[in-house]
Amino acid sequence: MNLIFLGAPGAGKGTQAKRAVEKYGIPQISTGDMLREAVAKGTELGKKAKEYMDKGELVPDEVVIGIVKERLQQPDCEKGFILDGFPRTLAQAEALDEMLKELGKKIDAVINIAVPEEEVVKRIVNRRTCKKCGAVYHLIYAPPKEDNKCDKCGGELYQRDDDKEETVRERYRVYKQNTEPLIEYYRKKGVLYDVDGTKDIEGVWEEVVSILDKIK
Ligand code: AMP
Repeated sequence: MNLIFLGAPGAGKGTQAKRAVEKYGIPQISTGDMLREAVAKGTELGKKAKEYMDKGELVPDEVVIGIVKERLQQPDCEKGFILDGFPRTLAQAEALDEMLKELGKKIDAVINIAVPEEEVVKRIVNRRTCKKCGAVYHLIYAPPKEDNKCDKCGGELYQRDDDKEETVRERYRVYKQNTEPLIEYYRKKGVLYDVDGTKDIEGVWEEVVSILDKIK
């Protein structure tokens, strides 16, 4: 199954994608995670990406397209993959079509997780991420058992720089302008499935599973 999880920042793409990795045994390809890793390692790519990420802006298309192209050619993507946070612009979606054509693959489903701005802001400003394993918590809805400590690996939890309110609002604006048009792009291709992202994690997951079980 070749999937895209589409939605505003904080819609729950990453959370749902992680569950789908477990259930369906296909890898999650999160451009945000890959870029953060590059930033943490201080690579050339990381240095370039950080400027944009800190402001809540999109990293240039050619940069992310290059990363995804390389990643999709890894052997673990043969059985399928979940794109999380990519594509985010029309140019990225078109580049993805090209890449998949070359690889003899196609997208089976685009899961569009819809959540309004105020809910996104409420979710993200309370979001905490593990420095070590990337696990995500929410101080109110899904708090860690111990303050500031990851339940899974004991790593320290932190607030991503781009999870501050002002940056979140900018990221939402960027989403509306650049990424929302992709909903129609994929609807026209007949692969779009809408999910109500305002439900709790379990409720959204039920909807996602019912869609994926049908197309698998
Ligand atoms: P995320 O973790 O998906 O919210 O991504 C965090 C940040 O990484 C975004 O605000 C962008 O600056 C950058 N980023 C991630 N994916 C992309 C993408 N597909 N295109 C451009 N920038 C991206």
